[in-house]
Amino acid sequence: MEEIGVLMTTPMFSYLEDELEKRFKLFRLWKASSKDQLLNQISQSIRAVVGNTSIGADAALIDSLPNLEIVSTYSVGLDKIDLEKCRSRNIRVTNTPDVLTDDVADIAVGLALATLRKISSSDSFVRNRLWMNGDFHLTNKFSGKSVGIVGLGRIGSAIAKRVEAFGCQISYHSRSKKLHTPYKFYPDIVTLAAKSEILFISCSLTKETHHIVNRQVIDALGSNGILINIGRGQHVDEPELVSALIEGRLGGAGLDVFEDEPEVPELLLGLDNVVLLPHVGSDSIETCIAMADLVIDNLEAHFKNKPLLSPV
Ligand code: NAP
Repeated sequence: MEEIGVLMTTPMFSYLEDELEKRFKLFRLWKASSKDQLLNQISQSIRAVVGNTSIGADAALIDSLPNLEIVSTYSVGLDKIDLEKCRSRNIRVTNTPDVLTDDVADIAVGLALATLRKISSSDSFVRNRLWMNGDFHLTNKFSGKSVGIVGLGRIGSAIAKRVEAFGCQISYHSRSKKLHTPYKFYPDIVTLAAKSEILFISCSLTKETHHIVNRQVIDALGSNGILINIGRGQHVDEPELVSALIEGRLGGAGLDVFEDEPEVPELLLGLDNVVLLPHVGSDSIETCIAMADLVIDNLEAHFKNKPLLSPV
């Protein structure tokens, strides 16, 4: 398959790049001094695009590739792919579900623990030798809290399974009520937030879930409430979140994702009631290898006319 042209949109994981290079004629969009010029030169030969959560396949890219057959994203989220355009052109789409679920759920729970128990600031306290001057201040308990989950999909369900072991009472909001869960369903996210001490955001990003966490939801969660976002930054109205944290209308936040990554609002950096991660939910070596293998297996299946492993 060395002659099949595959376009990678942005640097991802070197293992994925190396393995793609072994199998396909690989083009790296980010290495071109002029992207338009590169696309003009190679457009006829590209049959697959590999994108991720920062650069996927938008309408302009898809339009520039007349022989594109498949978009294989190195992510489970599909928000950077123009799915309608793919459908209209009969371009197949694959993603990397399941293999990253455990890691993202682990990070979600880690963020909740770190935010409530102030793990990052107590670590800094020891490193900065402040312990010599007295004990660290008291923090808040995680076990037993009421937890709301927005998006009880693969990752949301894995978060639920984990927090159940912490004795938390679990409720959720999704598009639909799930038949086989013991958790309480709220068709309205504001009511869910009002009933929760910790609100986890784990839904997919769509037009409907853009800013699903607005001022009303933040105020319903309240001054003792904690928001954990491992979905996408655009789920949360970030200026509203920042002012609620500063004004004490929200207790704290653990954030793996931001509206304008890698930009993070300056005001968040000075707050002690937040834990900030650089979008690393699925970034363990083991999971990244599994995601890369799934991207490659999907491409190979497509070009060998076999069933796709994880079609969208
Ligand atoms: P999934 O199984 O498809 O779950 C998505 C959930 O979102 C479903 O429960 C769905 O509800 C819910 N949802 C969709 N539209 C909604 C709406 N309008 N209102 C309320 N809920 C809605 O996907 P997943 O594998 O769990 O992944 C979820 C998301 O996590 C991804 O899309 C991605 O953005 C994010 N993610 C982040 C990281 C990271 O590194 N931080 C890593 C991986 C994934 P229904 O069940 O009712 O349809």
